[in-house]
Amino acid sequence: MWGKTDSNISETFKRDKTGMKQRLKKISEHVWILPFDSPKDRPNLGYIKGETSALAVDAGHSSSHVEDFYKELEANGLPLPDMTVITHWHWDHTFGMHAVHGHTLALPETNRKLEELRKELLSDPGWGRHFLKSDPSVMRKYAGGVPLVIVPADEELPGGDRDIDLGGVTARILRTESPHTEDALLVLVPDDRVLFIGDAQQGEFPSWRMDYDKLYALGRKIREIDTELVVDGHWTVYRKRDFLDELGI
Ligand SMILES: [Zn+2]
Repeated sequence: MWGKTDSNISETFKRDKTGMKQRLKKISEHVWILPFDSPKDRPNLGYIKGETSALAVDAGHSSSHVEDFYKELEANGLPLPDMTVITHWHWDHTFGMHAVHGHTLALPETNRKLEELRKELLSDPGWGRHFLKSDPSVMRKYAGGVPLVIVPADEELPGGDRDIDLGGVTARILRTESPHTEDALLVLVPDDRVLFIGDAQQGEFPSWRMDYDKLYALGRKIREIDTELVVDGHWTVYRKRDFLDELGI
């Protein structure tokens, strides 16, 4: 399986560098990803399909990101997700949430942060303009009048951990420590041995300060998880051993 996935990843890099449209990639029996797109600051979006329902990992950066994802699902004969799980509050993973199909789930801390941002957006028109100018990738993402809309998730996951039966395949949601944000969820597909980590291994934004105690706690947790693949939010699909080697764990 890895030989095949590796060649797919090479193609992903070519497209990402040339700014071509990202295509849905199947990475295991029940799991697909819409690959990341650096120029537009779009992270990898995950899709897990069971016999009875489908679950997406992260909502993406905007309604146009969601539209591109759903067009790819439709082109591949896959149903729209019934649920979307949010890995952490950052805009590139959550600001598409108002446009997703079905139910959305997040940690209570993620919702509190999104509610704060929503309040700022609604009370201060300058906040939205400031956000759009914060980075060229954000400007590119929202070019052409894509609306900036912030909503919290429909359902909160106190404690974080939950198994969701999709019919013949399970999505296991796991709370974790992370140096990136205080709200961090992992999504494991034990049947396929695929683990989505969002941006959990990155430093804090915007300083990129790294809390090594939290990084090692995350590394220990991932080491204990029985997975073959690790899907990073803004990079390739790794083998678990390669991923831990990069973390130095
Ligand atoms: Zn992030």
